[in-house]
Amino acid sequence: MIPFNKPYLTGKEMHYMYQAVMSGKLSGNGIYTEKCQKLMEQQYQFAKVLLTTSCTDALEMAAILIDIQPGDEVIMPSYTFVSSANPFILRGAKVVFADSETDSPNLDADLLEGLITPKTKAIVPVHYAGMACDMEKIMTIAEKYNLLVVEDAAQAIDSYCNGKPLGSFGHLSAFSFHETKNIIAGEGGMLVINDARFADRAEIIWEKGTNRSSFFRGEVNKYGWVDIGSSFLPSEITAAFLYAQMENLEDIQQRRKSLWNLYFQELQVLQDQGQLKLPFVPAYGTNNAHMFYLICKDAAERTALITHLNAHKIHSVFHYISLHTSPYFADKHDGRMLDHADHYTECLLRLPLFYELEQQQVSYIADSIKEFYAQRSL
Ligand SMILES: *Cc1c(COP(=O)(O)O)cnc(C)c1O
Repeated sequence: MIPFNKPYLTGKEMHYMYQAVMSGKLSGNGIYTEKCQKLMEQQYQFAKVLLTTSCTDALEMAAILIDIQPGDEVIMPSYTFVSSANPFILRGAKVVFADSETDSPNLDADLLEGLITPKTKAIVPVHYAGMACDMEKIMTIAEKYNLLVVEDAAQAIDSYCNGKPLGSFGHLSAFSFHETKNIIAGEGGMLVINDARFADRAEIIWEKGTNRSSFFRGEVNKYGWVDIGSSFLPSEITAAFLYAQMENLEDIQQRRKSLWNLYFQELQVLQDQGQLKLPFVPAYGTNNAHMFYLICKDAAERTALITHLNAHKIHSVFHYISLHTSPYFADKHDGRMLDHADHYTECLLRLPLFYELEQQQVSYIADSIKEFYAQRSL
């Protein structure tokens, strides 16, 4: 069976973890945490980075930092992972779901102004498959209405919008290093703090509501409980693993992009014939090869294709069930139809994509898909 994903070890993970363990400091905010944070700050000109135990936690920190109060409204796409929404729901916000674009699962920025009310506090764009939302448009609207922007950049490491790294547009941004992402730590994430107003408080929330970070820098002579917070920082063992991945980001990206491009070339003929749709890279964005997906005509065709691929020992998987239709949220939704989100829910299918996938396997998968469509049009 060709798996959907296989975590890739770059080589130095065990060595750095060993170093971390032998250093005698296993808890968070040590040497490897610092190394990871500095590397990301330098590489992407992020103002400040804090490693977190997950992207979900980074988003929870963001919801605390922007001071979400019960009743505040937060706009985000419906076609996303629960972690885009949960952190804001936990603080009492009302989530307002926006529909996706025609060409991609990303939130349709042209719908934003129609969803903004006096209670709107923030917009949470999600860069699906690592491809940029229209950040220029979103930031312009946010400025006009005095809203905060928290990018859910979970899938968007090393991807750009108009030449600027994703994660550097929003006031705050969250990335994931979950084992399914381009670079991994098992479970892990980072919060990017671009707006300096949030920098000091971010460290406090990160350290369980204490000013421990200032204490270690010698800025205060004792530390204590100064705000709300939680245990958002990963251990040094996790950071050590992650550092090995970060050091190899360029190689990982190159490999993933070449596999992605091969998929695209091989399947383009089916798009030209109108059989399916392939990912759309907007003119203002780049592709970080986080994911290769295709869009079937309808749910029945997708199910038949999954079955066909399974029979050829290929594991393909669909993705989100739009959150406005979820058991938790359906009775809280305002009833607007979100047709594009529903379409992606029913028709989007993700293909295997991981570092050790071989070119012949990509060709084999593409051939199996072509065979499926050839049989269907008989
Ligand atoms: C993976 C993912 C998350 C969650 O990341 P974790 O690190 O597992 O918490 C959130 N949002 C999106 C869009 C994701 O793809």
